[in-house]
Amino acid sequence: MKNIVTSFSAAVCLTTALVFFGGCNSEKALARRVDSLHRKMITVDTHTDTAIQYLRGHSFDSLQVNFDKMAEGGLDAVFFAVYRGQGKRDDSTLVALANWTEDKLVRFGRFVDSVPEAERAWHPADVRRIKKEGKACAILALENGYMVGRDLANVERFYNLGARYITLSHNNNNDICDAAVREDNPKKGFSSEPEWHGLSPFGRQVVAEMNRLGMIVDISHTSDETVEDVLEISAAPIIASHSSARALCPHPRNLSDELIRKIAAKGGVIQATIYHGFVDKGDGTPLDVKLYCDHVEHIRDVAGVEHVGFGSDFDGGGGLEGINSAAEVKNVTRELMRRGWSDHDIELFWGGNILRVWEEVEAVAAKLASN
Ligand SMILES: [Zn+2]
Repeated sequence: MKNIVTSFSAAVCLTTALVFFGGCNSEKALARRVDSLHRKMITVDTHTDTAIQYLRGHSFDSLQVNFDKMAEGGLDAVFFAVYRGQGKRDDSTLVALANWTEDKLVRFGRFVDSVPEAERAWHPADVRRIKKEGKACAILALENGYMVGRDLANVERFYNLGARYITLSHNNNNDICDAAVREDNPKKGFSSEPEWHGLSPFGRQVVAEMNRLGMIVDISHTSDETVEDVLEISAAPIIASHSSARALCPHPRNLSDELIRKIAAKGGVIQATIYHGFVDKGDGTPLDVKLYCDHVEHIRDVAGVEHVGFGSDFDGGGGLEGINSAAEVKNVTRELMRRGWSDHDIELFWGGNILRVWEEVEAVAAKLASN
């Protein structure tokens, strides 16, 4: 009897050991597959507030995104947004604001230019070349069309300084469009009511001007009515640079399945974000990389794998357990692999989709110029 028990225990131990070491081996193999894919594919984060934090005086080393963390995480390209919250809309404020915006774009651009291991991308082809050269790629952007004020010439002014998308609003309405999140604050001139029921007449001109220049229209932060208007009039595909799925987290900043489908039908992309308030299901599900991938897979299931990507909102509140800086983005890749995603689909998610959209936006501009 004792022999039987001993043999049984030995067999259990052996099985446990095999499972354990087999597990270790498969984890090692998975890590190798993650590293190898990150070396090969282009990875893009379409939204960070890193630039504005840096310009406010935070040390670059202390931020969730910097060029060392990008290298560590295998993150190739980041859109660095100059952000400004909604404020007063009188003429003198708007003129000063446009000058402030120019100053911020120039200063962050010069900072990138001063770093040998980084380079700015002005066009999608630059992203591909900079990746090959092994450098970190920085793309400038603007978060809040408020900075355009009511002067259409500011769109080209900011484009010429490197800004490659404009998020049409932040929280609260501006002269371009209505926002998704609005507050009643008469002192600041804010109202929770829609002001334009979508795009304003000036906002329509701004979208046309962005199409003409080859600048990406970003509808994150805007109201559903605004998204509908932009979809109707934009000559080019559009993006949501940092929004998640409203079906999983019912926040007005997130996108309904209907809008996700419409953005995809126009060739655009939804860059799922990791801000906790836009991923939380409210049922106690841990706020981690798995929950994030639930949003990614939901958008994929609704719109197709060609229409989902990554927009962290790092240094603007973005970050979840397991993905708290640019250094940790491989954990998303690992989780998608565990869920059975092919390398091809992961490549689309990480960079293929957003680069396709950016190229299409530039192709539309070239076509408009030739007409
Ligand atoms: Zn934002």
